[in-house]
Amino acid sequence: MRRAVKVGKLIIGGNAPVSVQSMTNTKTSNVEETIFQIKRLEEAGCDVVRVAVQDEEDAKAIRKIRERINIPLIADIQFDHRLAILSIENGADKIRINPGNMRKDRLKEVVAVAKEKGVPIRVGVNVGSLRKRTSERWKDLAESALEEVRLLESLEFYDIVVSVKSSDVLETIKANEYIAEKVDYPIHLGVTEAGVAETAIVKSSIAIGYLLLKGIGDTIRISISGDPVREVVVGRKILIALGLREGPEVIACPTCGRSEIDVEKLAAMVEENLFHIKKRVKIAVMGCVVNGIGEGKDSDIGVAGLKDGAVIFVKGKVKERVPKEKIIDRLKFYIDRYLEEVD
Ligand code: SF4
Repeated sequence: MRRAVKVGKLIIGGNAPVSVQSMTNTKTSNVEETIFQIKRLEEAGCDVVRVAVQDEEDAKAIRKIRERINIPLIADIQFDHRLAILSIENGADKIRINPGNMRKDRLKEVVAVAKEKGVPIRVGVNVGSLRKRTSERWKDLAESALEEVRLLESLEFYDIVVSVKSSDVLETIKANEYIAEKVDYPIHLGVTEAGVAETAIVKSSIAIGYLLLKGIGDTIRISISGDPVREVVVGRKILIALGLREGPEVIACPTCGRSEIDVEKLAAMVEENLFHIKKRVKIAVMGCVVNGIGEGKDSDIGVAGLKDGAVIFVKGKVKERVPKEKIIDRLKFYIDRYLEEVD
């Protein structure tokens, strides 16, 4: 089992559930905008949020932000050890640094403050920060992350989370498998610079899904360019699909010429309405009754299109026929009833 690290009220590692994290893309010193974005991330199911600290103003803003959010906050510092210390002093629950970028005496100062305040440190590398490159880049990545771990250990600091990230799926997998064998610190998983939209989602789902199924990974971040809320939504969906988190799962048929309803629109509406639910419930949205009821049988509640409306079925049994304009209302009724029953 991995060691457990405490990040504010959240546990990463040990027996704790895998947590979803994201990073704001606002200027951290813009407190209002940053808080607004974090609130949206919280609503989407984010467990822990990271902010970039580039100057003193950013570090000082952490105190104000921390007071008004409900999830732990991580300060991300690239080079300046004074900013790392200032971030901790202003209430950061964890810091992410690159010890290789700091002189050892300066790192020592950071570690002393982190120890005193009980603040863990994430270390790790991604391809961009690699100093040594051989033909086995995944190993270079893993080895340089381990070097950073050893640096902290040499200062008797063990409250560590480690990460190795690449934009390449196979490199990410190999490097993480390697460090999982070498150390027992919690592992932060992510595919870095994964790209936009579908590309990022595909890469992250493969690498992170594969590693999580092997029991590797304690916290995840899905990197997608753009609104970070999407990262959280995808992260949660990956965990739900792997059975690592309770939540709604909407299955929908791919549609074909038999489809009688707008499956895509309806499924999207159902997902949007149910996303906040933290219970396991499977809802099927199927285009027709010809195959829909059979194919949606393993769902808890389903809807299948008819020429003049739809049927709603529960555990594969048809409950009622509804006209098109009532589909959403009646579906909601059955979902609410189901959720009350499982409560
Ligand atoms: S459920 Fe009906 S509409 Fe959907 S793919 Fe199957 S046959 Fe086509």
